[in-house]
Amino acid sequence: MMPRAFRTWRIALIAAACGVTIAADGAAPSMAGGAATANGGAATAVLAGMDRSVAPGDDFFMYANGAWLSATRIPPDQSSWSTFAMLRERTIERTSELIRTAAARPNPTSEERKIADYYATFMDEAAIEKKGLEPLAPALRAIARIDDRHKLASALGAAMRADVDVLNNTHLQTPNLFGLWVAADLDDPTHYIPILLQGGLEMPDRDYYLDPSQHMAAIRAQYLAHIGRVLTLAHIADARAKATRIFELERRMAQAHWSRADSEQVRKTDNHWTRADFDRRAPGLDWSAFFAAARLEGAARFIVWQPSALIGLAALTKEEPLETWKEYLTFHALEHAAPYLPKAFVAERFAFYGRTLSGTPELSPRWKRAVDQTDDALGDAVGKLYVARYFPPSEKARAEAMVRNLLAAYRVRIERLDWMAPQTKRKAEAKLATLKVSVGYPDTWRDYSALEVVSGDALGNAMRAEQLEYERSLGKLGRPVDRDEWVMTPQTVNAVNLPVLNALNFPAAYLQPPNFDPHRPSVMDYGAAGAVIGHEISHSFDDQGALFDASGKLANWWTKADFAHFEAAGARLVAQYDRYRPFPDLAVNGKQTLSENIADVAGLSAAYDAYRLSLNGQPGSSVGGLTTDQLFFLSFAQSWRTKMREAALRRLIVTDGHAPARYRADTVRNIDTWYAAFGVAPGMKLYLAPADRVRIW
Ligand SMILES: [Zn+2]
Repeated sequence: MMPRAFRTWRIALIAAACGVTIAADGAAPSMAGGAATANGGAATAVLAGMDRSVAPGDDFFMYANGAWLSATRIPPDQSSWSTFAMLRERTIERTSELIRTAAARPNPTSEERKIADYYATFMDEAAIEKKGLEPLAPALRAIARIDDRHKLASALGAAMRADVDVLNNTHLQTPNLFGLWVAADLDDPTHYIPILLQGGLEMPDRDYYLDPSQHMAAIRAQYLAHIGRVLTLAHIADARAKATRIFELERRMAQAHWSRADSEQVRKTDNHWTRADFDRRAPGLDWSAFFAAARLEGAARFIVWQPSALIGLAALTKEEPLETWKEYLTFHALEHAAPYLPKAFVAERFAFYGRTLSGTPELSPRWKRAVDQTDDALGDAVGKLYVARYFPPSEKARAEAMVRNLLAAYRVRIERLDWMAPQTKRKAEAKLATLKVSVGYPDTWRDYSALEVVSGDALGNAMRAEQLEYERSLGKLGRPVDRDEWVMTPQTVNAVNLPVLNALNFPAAYLQPPNFDPHRPSVMDYGAAGAVIGHEISHSFDDQGALFDASGKLANWWTKADFAHFEAAGARLVAQYDRYRPFPDLAVNGKQTLSENIADVAGLSAAYDAYRLSLNGQPGSSVGGLTTDQLFFLSFAQSWRTKMREAALRRLIVTDGHAPARYRADTVRNIDTWYAAFGVAPGMKLYLAPADRVRIW
């Protein structure tokens, strides 16, 4: 079973943002921001994608999207097409223009100059080519000078970065020996604590090193060859033998690693260690040298996420020959620097990680990579420009009003629940009252004044940006926890639930047409963005949200009876989704997708209530012959508009915590008002008797 833990509920929106008309060529003429300027235009957009020959009670997804599906072709370099994909393309083009022109206007700020210089330096391939490996030479010389285990420990500590984030962004992997995440202590969320995660592997997961299948064995053979080619490109002698030793060291590290499923079991990972515990429980690594180089010598307490992995990795630093470690560090330094090195290194990196591991046929154009790199280094500075141009205060206010109505709708729904114990309800209300929902962008922007951007030094710029992020993380230690912190940039087309902060972030780039559009009746926004906001809120109150209390502390606040009721209702939803069969030999897995399906039902129900609340007793809009309720449900089903290649759909069914988009659209069959809105009656394919409709919240 797919781990139903944090990855699935945090990144809920990846698939969630897909909306209205997209033309067959993948452009979105009616969505280009304000093109649908009146209710009439909005109605045209809704109607254009529908297939009215389908009965809504038989196949609501096709009724809402049939015409769009037959007119849409998936672009050749994509595995699917949806509004999410379209929004990401649009946003990267907009961001690129903002970055390129950041320093062009009169009196640019120093931050704007940094953005422009960072981008231009990355784009200057000729200069990068000319410098060759020289920018990396000091780092390689430092590795060559390591001549004892003490210096090895210092090198490993100095290489550590703040490049993991388990519960929010669900980044679990780092190629450094350990990854650092500074977050609120799971046992005491008023304080920050350093959290150490297993690392050291270049391939994505231990399975790539250990899984006996032919497919993985073939990838391993290619990886070994890749290591050899990287060393050869760097003119390192005896590349083949070194590659074998480097691979073997990583394979031994993988043996110590925890699986992804185990690493997502937060109750297994909440292990507090004192500084003394490292010397006592994880011998082999010179921890004093390691922590001094990592600038964590002052930290008294840590969370060790995967203790047996940390113990195993520490032992390897003593057991393996020093020379092998130096070869390993050299390869990792080359691999890490590759995006900023001459094109032979870039191409070799893409050939393995892009083509072999991801099946992507072509490297994305350099300007898109430059946008991503600039976003990584100066994300909030770019975000500031993005929201100034594309997210006016009126849209922020409109989104915040929608959030308030969603929260009010949840309050009523929780109060009305008949299965939850009264004392649990009080705790749910407390959690709802303290839930911090942030919309568009953070109240406080990150400060980049300490970042030195040097024109002509692409590698140095990237390394200094990483260093600044590491220092920003270290700087949190000893300070009060900042619940206003954002973990995504405003120009990210996604949203995130932050369980330890009891907070949600909805970036500006998600809140754009067709998810959220001022030029159409608001009921359509409630059906699209509103249902997704409701979905994310629901995760704070489901079987996973039950693990974290109102303060963000890891403390289960449900009674046994609450869980029993929740599971019984869930079982009926499992059965509902198990019956969806996109292929004769492959059905949706109701259990694997349960948390997300619950969130969909809850989010849609709450969004409907919230819309009604927003009307204040006034009648809603009806346009193009569609009633308010019809517009609400159509907007929801159209937000799931997705066309996917068969292989991708099969992979999604097997590996994803979310149901395929078309079945997410069918969530409507659990909502009574949908039946009245479309005259859905017994005998129709989606009809459920009132007793079979699942209501959890
Ligand atoms: Zn979700």
